[in-house]
Amino acid sequence: MDVNRIFVVGAGTMGSGIAQTASVSGYQVTMSDISQEILDRGVKTIAASVERLAAKEKISTAQQQAALDITTALDLEPAREADLVVEAATENPELKLKLFEQLDQLAPQGAILASNTSSISLTKIGAATERPEAVIGMHFFNPVPLMKLLEVVRGLATSDETTQTAIEVGKKMGKEPVEAKDSPGFISNRILCPMINEAVYTLQEGIGSPDAIDTVMRLGMNHPMGPLALADLVGLDVVLFVMEVLHRDLGEDKYRPCPLLRKMVDAGYLGRKSGRGFYLYD
Ligand code: NAD
Repeated sequence: MDVNRIFVVGAGTMGSGIAQTASVSGYQVTMSDISQEILDRGVKTIAASVERLAAKEKISTAQQQAALDITTALDLEPAREADLVVEAATENPELKLKLFEQLDQLAPQGAILASNTSSISLTKIGAATERPEAVIGMHFFNPVPLMKLLEVVRGLATSDETTQTAIEVGKKMGKEPVEAKDSPGFISNRILCPMINEAVYTLQEGIGSPDAIDTVMRLGMNHPMGPLALADLVGLDVVLFVMEVLHRDLGEDKYRPCPLLRKMVDAGYLGRKSGRGFYLYD
């Protein structure tokens, strides 16, 4: 299937990154959110990012201009013109199911409805529509313009054609698409979050300091960043949320969220975004 117009729902961290990357890759892009202020912030983030990339000659001035030409909307109407919708709204199951119900009503027959969800079942999202064969996960990573990975997640009813199109779009956006089945955490968070959780257990049991734990993983395992520093970057609330999903949906004790992780989230120590996590930030 030919994709020309992409409608990105949500202009936050991921939505603005996806819109930017799609536009510099030659797609006509519209981006929506629920307030003008958020849209303006998203547009500003994109403008600053493409300016940096153009200054480093990573993109051409024509590509920079394409990103500045992204149109915006405060409703879902642009879905009517879209070949592909990529939903990157807040990670809330009720919100996403409602959005997909509405997008299904608006988008033309044959259009693909993709979600950037990190933890919600694509099979469930597909079932909220009358086109589950055209619903798929396109799980981008933060920051989208720089991160090469795209996890393409197939729901139970997702067709081969939809999967092929999502992979082709991902490649055109400069990503390396990897296929995963719809299962809690997909591949990425199924491995990453239990590793971080185990690092928090290691800290809780006093086996090592945060610095010792991160240094072991950086220098011994060649990870670019230690698991606790990474948890601070991702957000401790996000890690806890994913662990709760894995624990509940896979039902195994090995996914039990570490009590220290829960305690830190309760205390508001969410990592970089709150100024304090396993480390302190200015
Ligand atoms: P964010 O909070 O930065 O952005 C979400 C945006 O969605 C907000 O601006 C919000 O106003 C908007 N929104 C809420 N309801 C909406 C609606 N009805 N219509 C349009 N917009 C609406 O969150 P984010 O980090 O960009 O995450 C978005 C999605 O991407 C989530 O599903 C998350 O799980 C996933 N994700 C996030 C990351 C990450 O590192 N941040 C990585 C991979 C996937």
